[in-house]
Parts: sequence; C-alpha cells; structure tokens
Amino acid sequence: MEIALRPEMHTYSGGLGVLAGDTVRSSADLELPMVFLTLASREGYLRQEIDSNGRQIDHADPWNLEDWATPLDAMVAVRIEGRAVWVRPWLHVLTCPIGHAIPVLLLDTRLDHNDPADREITDRLYGGDEAYRLKQEIVLGVGGMRVLHALGFDVETYHLNEGHAALLAAALLREHPHPSDRPRDGALSYDADRVRERCIFTTHTPVEAGHDRFDYEKAGRLLSDFLPLDQMKLLAGPDRLNMTRLALNLSGYVNGVAIRHAETTRRMFPGYGIRAVTNGVHAPTWVHPTFAQLFQGFAPDWGHDPEALSGADQLSDNAIWSAHQKAKDELLAEVQLLTGAAMRPDIPLLAFARRMTGYKRPDLLFTDIERLRAISRGQPFQLVMAGKAHPRDEGGKALIAEIHAHMRTLSGEIPMAFLPNYDMALAKKLVAGADVWLNTPLPPYEASGTSGMKAALNGVLNLSILDGWWIEAWVEGVTGWAIGHDDQRHEGDAQNLYDKLERTVLPLYYTDRARWLRMMKDSISKIGPRFNSQSMMRRYASEAYLR
Ligand SMILES: *Cc1c(COP(=O)(O)O)cnc(C)c1O
Repeated sequence: MEIALRPEMHTYSGGLGVLAGDTVRSSADLELPMVFLTLASREGYLRQEIDSNGRQIDHADPWNLEDWATPLDAMVAVRIEGRAVWVRPWLHVLTCPIGHAIPVLLLDTRLDHNDPADREITDRLYGGDEAYRLKQEIVLGVGGMRVLHALGFDVETYHLNEGHAALLAAALLREHPHPSDRPRDGALSYDADRVRERCIFTTHTPVEAGHDRFDYEKAGRLLSDFLPLDQMKLLAGPDRLNMTRLALNLSGYVNGVAIRHAETTRRMFPGYGIRAVTNGVHAPTWVHPTFAQLFQGFAPDWGHDPEALSGADQLSDNAIWSAHQKAKDELLAEVQLLTGAAMRPDIPLLAFARRMTGYKRPDLLFTDIERLRAISRGQPFQLVMAGKAHPRDEGGKALIAEIHAHMRTLSGEIPMAFLPNYDMALAKKLVAGADVWLNTPLPPYEASGTSGMKAALNGVLNLSILDGWWIEAWVEGVTGWAIGHDDQRHEGDAQNLYDKLERTVLPLYYTDRARWLRMMKDSISKIGPRFNSQSMMRRYASEAYLR
C-alpha cells in the first residue's frame, strides 16, 4: 500500500513504507529482477501541523505525480460495486548509484473514464472509511495483477507485503482452476497449491488494528462476483474477510519481520509455518555524508556490501567524534529552524521519533517528572521528539498534546523540542544527529522497528526496550543498552529507564568518552553488517523467491 521512494513523493506514512522503499533500493543495488506496485496516493498521507496548544492539525499532503512518474498507455479495469473502475499505472524508475534500475508502478484511478467517486480511490493513503480501504485493496491487488499482465511482465513469484495486497493472491487463484472437474462439496474449486508456489507473504505487525477485516456483506457488495462467497470464506475466515488469513492461506512462504515477531505471529495464527526474516535498512540512504566518507576510506564497496562495515571498529576516535558532531550540529540547526529552540552541541541529545500511538509509549519517559528533573539537574541532557498520529487515532493525538504539556512544564529546565511532520527527510537528520536513540514500546507490539538500525549505522547508541529487532542486536554496554528485562513486568519499565539514564548512559557520556566512542564503533561495526536491507534481500531472494 505504501512505498517511501523519496521525500518529495508522499506515497508513504511510516515504517512499513520506508522498509518497502529500502527494499526497492536494495533490489536495484543487487540487480534483482523485480517490479514493485503501490498506489499513487496523490493526496499523500498526512501533513502534520502542531498548533499553539500542542495539538496535531491534520492536513492533506498532496504532491505532483507528474514530476516524478510517467503515465503509461496501458489501462486495466477492475469491478467495484458492479462498476468498471479504470486503473492507470504511472512508471517511476528507481536507479541505484551504480546504475541498475528498478520499475515501480504507481496505480491511479484519477481518470475521466471513472465515476467521480471512483477517481478518489487511490488519492488518500490510509484515508477514508472501511469501504474506501477495501476499494484501495481491490485496486492494489486485483488491479495490480492485471496491470502487470497488461504491461507484459511475466511474473514468476509475487511477494505480498502486508495483508493489504492479499487480493492479488485471490486474483491469481482465478487463473488456476482445480485440476479435477468437480471438486468435493465445501472444498476449494481452485488449485490453491499452485498459487501457494507463487506467493510469499510478509506480515508486519502483531497489533490487531493492523490486520484488515471486512464484513462479508459489505465486501460482497464491493467485490461483486469476484470469488463465490463460499470459496472466499474457506480462505479468509468464516465470519469476516480477514486479509491476513487470506494471504496466509494462499502463500507458500510466510514470514514475520524479526525472530520475536515470528514467534508472536505463530501464536496469533496457529497452524501456519511462519518464518523470520529480520528487517534491515538501506545503508547508503541512511548513513550521514560525513560517515559515508569515513566508510569509503576503509571499505570502498560498503554501500553495496555493508558487511564490510565490520571494519568500522578500526576508525580513530577523532574521526568518529568529528563526523558525529557535524551531524549533530546539522540536527541542532534544524531544531532551531523548526522550533526556535537553542540546544548545545556539548550536552547529550536524546531522540524519540516514531508514530505517535499507544503501544509506542512516547509518554513513558514522563512517567515521573520529578525523577526526570532530578536526573537532568545532576547530568543535563536535551530531548528532541517527532512523530505523526494517524488522523483517526485519538489516543495518539492525545499523546502529542500530553508531550507538549510536559514540554511546557519542564521549560527552562530540560531543553526539549517536538519537530513537526516527521518524514524521511527529517528522519535522516534525527538518526544521524542524536547521541542516544530512545525506544520504549510495549512488548510484543514492536514487530521489528528499523529507525534504531539507521541510528546504529551513524554511531548513535540505542537505549531501547527489548522487543523486535533489538533483541537480536543488543549486547549490553557494547552495541547499546536495554531498558527492562525480557521477563520483567512492564510496570518497572519507567524506573528502569530512569536508572539506566542516571547510572549508565549519562555518566558514560560525561566521564568516560573513550568508552562511549568504543560503543559508537561497536554499534556501527556489529549492527551495520547484519541489519541492512542488502542482507535482508539476499535472504528473501535465496530463501523465499528461489525456494
Ligand atoms: C525508519 C522510519 C520509520 C520506522 O521507524 P520505527 O523504528 O519502526 O518506528 C518511520 N518513519 C520514518 C519517517 C522512518 O524513516
């Protein structure tokens, strides 16, 4: 549903889209024979404004499709509510620096041929109601497959990235009727085994709301005669059309995005063989130019083969520190520009940037304001935060307002800033310019998390709850620090966070710079070689696509 191709193209909302973008970038680097499909999202996801009371104001976030993609002549129709809805693909070619190119097709229904209401289907990412979402998924899955046919792509394997694309597998089913003329009653009249050979499914979240479910009555109206209802119920669940279940039932290779997430998914959907391919980030995209220059010095091919970053442990203290301080200066300049807050380069900077929603617990740090005050009096620190709440996530919006209230309470004591409109461009500055990357989700809801990987590549140290990818990368006091213990109840998390800050993280920054630098190097050299999208795509290619 979303791919973050570049900041000017508002075809993404957050981590899922950024991961998809890094997937495209690595596929280009590795010359994988792939084509990607997503929606045009002409109105974008959300431009976030923060008003003077600290409340999020939602704006549309339009962008110019014409500036970044070329309309193709091929058009296909899908049937929605009995009407033909025409879909036109636009081509964006993503070229990697060494020259390989990957086509990305952006699906668009803004066409004169279409009923005015249908012209909006591909406009707003995660906008509208349940019916709007299902229409988008029909365009993405069914329309997407037809577009590939119309353009002459001979696709061997389909990778469904999240349940949003599950209708593609159902559309594929229609191409593979059951080998025997008359299958048993109550059985599938299609050759699902053949479809499973061709489909791979990656699920991305253990959060319930992240799994689309539709009322069969509504779905039947929108999908018309796409698949007989009894057949659909066999595949997508008896009560509601569950897109995750549909994808699970029609995919021969299924994976979660970290080891812990695969375990959680197995518990949510017992009976399916669910593997783990831990996410990674595209190193050349997320490494700050000053670090890129350093890496170039000892491993000219690091962009293509981030494994070579294991050599970063040999960098000199001076080189690392001055590269980091440059990135920090740039972030502090951005903070000043966006919020007017003046922060200091010689005081540690904590950053917390992610989607503002309940399970991410952006408020955990403010559990005990007095304790926070006391820590900062002894060992000053600064804090920068950013993140959007989904327009219908009232809880997430309340968290943003709450953070702003804390900022007012602590003004003059702890330098704090909330940067509006968190996106790829802002993320690049944050993951390179902070000293400590803070993450406090409620386990097990952080499927993987990827921003901490971006930080690690820039020598920014992770201080994080043990969940998602961090369980795999964490070596206490070496690659970063854990908050809490894996087997501990979550009530203690805030106290544990304060203890870690007060007794470990801040003292190290102020009194043992040599060891801090050692950790920066360990963070790059131990995390960079493993948690990158090059390695991730090599695994998908060898274990899933060529299975
Ligand atoms: C990397 C990234 C994310 C995902 O980060 P998480 O660690 O999963 O929260 C979200 N939004 C943007 C803009 C990013 O660059």
